[in-house]
Amino acid sequence: MSHPAVRPVPRDDLRALEGYHSPQLDVQVRLNTNESPFAPPQEFLDRYSSAIRDAEYHRYPDRGAVALRTGIANSLGQPSERVFAANGSNEVLQTLLLTYGGPGRIALIFEPTYALHTHIARLTSTTVESVPRADDYTIDSNDACARIRAVRPSVVFVCSPNNPTGTVEPQASVVALADAAGEVGAVLVVDEAYGEFADHTALDLISDDRGIVVVRTYSKVWSMAGVRLGFCVGPAWMIDELDKVVLPYHLSTPTQLAGIIALDYQLEMLQRVAALVEERGRMYAALQSTPGVSVVPSGANFLLVRVHGDGHAVWEAMVDRGVLVRDFSRWPGVAECLRITIGTAKENDECVAALLAALDHVGVIS
Ligand SMILES: *Cc1c(COP(=O)(O)O)cnc(C)c1O
Repeated sequence: MSHPAVRPVPRDDLRALEGYHSPQLDVQVRLNTNESPFAPPQEFLDRYSSAIRDAEYHRYPDRGAVALRTGIANSLGQPSERVFAANGSNEVLQTLLLTYGGPGRIALIFEPTYALHTHIARLTSTTVESVPRADDYTIDSNDACARIRAVRPSVVFVCSPNNPTGTVEPQASVVALADAAGEVGAVLVVDEAYGEFADHTALDLISDDRGIVVVRTYSKVWSMAGVRLGFCVGPAWMIDELDKVVLPYHLSTPTQLAGIIALDYQLEMLQRVAALVEERGRMYAALQSTPGVSVVPSGANFLLVRVHGDGHAVWEAMVDRGVLVRDFSRWPGVAECLRITIGTAKENDECVAALLAALDHVGVIS
């Protein structure tokens, strides 16, 4: 007698989980995932190709990624013991949560923010406690510190510049949050995926006597979303713990090489960032004078726009006109909002034209 097979079921606490989706459509202008519109410099591509051709693939990669971590540290004026690298900053966030979150522990998150903070917390069985941001999307630091003292989380996430709003947290507010986190022994994770687009950074606050860690990525500012490389900067004792948790040899030889060689093109990277910041200013002005929407000030490579009407219908009408932006219209805290990644000047002009036509088509303006 054969019995029907019992289909294995995932962990109970994963049952309510939905995967992370960012819909991709084949359109002319793609301004939906905050990538850079510029490819990396040609010289970087040439050197990277010859480096990966010459690498020894029968050997494991450098487990400690020493050259990469030292290079990143030097570029930021930090000691190399303070740098940890992984496959995208999402793996950095996962490693932080595997180390400091987990069953019976709480992660405090200020919403609306990057969905993966909550998603990865759930994957690691960390309880999520969300605190709403103020109407202008900043964090009310008095209220936030009171919540930290009351909830006693193990991890506090601050995304600055915040995705999807672009809001940059004032440094004084980050310091206050770090102090409150320090009182209860929580790690303060400052997600600076867009840090280079803003005018200040929490990197200045890293020290050996507080549990603050800044997470960055090659995906956005470095034009290298396809490589999957991110890192964090924190006190050496925290980095030691992350090294114990992450899988051995997690960073492949090609990934390490990409990160090391890219560091030689920091100047080009900063020039691209400056060009995008200038385009952001131009787009902000254009969107401010577009009827039927309001635009949120941003320190990142994207702008959040609130449609004074049916945001989803406007998003669809833009797709029909060949422009894909990110639809947040049904998200709590950012209802009717669309997020527009800053692209090339031409893409941005096409985006504004499509938005205007879509607003008219849907009847938000007439
Ligand atoms: C894009 C983004 C990341 C990046 O993730 P990678 O895994 O490095 O590509 C991390 N945090 C925020 C807030 C982001 O928007």
